[in-house]
Amino acid sequence: MLLCDFHIHTTYSDGSVELRRAIDLFGQAGFDVIAITDHVVSGETAFGKLANRFRFSIQEDNFNSYFENIVEEGRRAWDRYRMLVLPGIEITKSSFSSNQSAHVLLIDIKTFVSASWDFEKIFLEAKKQDALIIACHPHHSSELMVDTLYLWNHRKKYARYIDAWEIANRDDVFNVISLKRYPYIAGSDFHRVRHLYSWKTMLNCEKEIEAIKQCIRYNRGVAITLFRDGIPF
Ligand code: ZN
Ligand code: ZN
Repeated sequence: MLLCDFHIHTTYSDGSVELRRAIDLFGQAGFDVIAITDHVVSGETAFGKLANRFRFSIQEDNFNSYFENIVEEGRRAWDRYRMLVLPGIEITKSSFSSNQSAHVLLIDIKTFVSASWDFEKIFLEAKKQDALIIACHPHHSSELMVDTLYLWNHRKKYARYIDAWEIANRDDVFNVISLKRYPYIAGSDFHRVRHLYSWKTMLNCEKEIEAIKQCIRYNRGVAITLFRDGIPF
């Protein structure tokens, strides 16, 4: 099975590890597929204005260089590690209310998508680009300052757009996803080196982008595993 992590941040947003080093870390750890998913923050809230001002967010004016850098580093990762690197973003709508906050990964994205758009517009644009749409940390989380409950609380409206929900994020497990029988994956929400050791996805499919997207969308042959460094906790 392919060892995968679909949720990784770099210094392009609020991660502490540069893109190239992050790729080497995952490549040397034996991963088959990763997605780089730096934040695109909605500029509408006070939080978003600060994130954009301090460049903790991909913006329209640097999306292309972000994308091209991932593609270029992806070529190096393939030659060196036979690891597939997918370009993605994390649409980040954060407010002081959990019920208003939601984060969504768009994976295999080709052009900029604004986090200021409403969800329907974002999802339709992502579908047009044939990107995977993943709802992140959709329930109460141990590490977030504000939970991101908006999509879960409005799941009847939005579930049809969402290819998979994070059933596990870093150290958290969201059993509500299995109770509702939604399609699932797991990811590290990597921001620091130690986050390498966290929940991951394993896929039973070819190491090829269309096969990977299909495997997640049909959600057959998907497993999660707690990737650890062998040191007893
Ligand atoms: Zn997030
Ligand atoms: Zn994240």
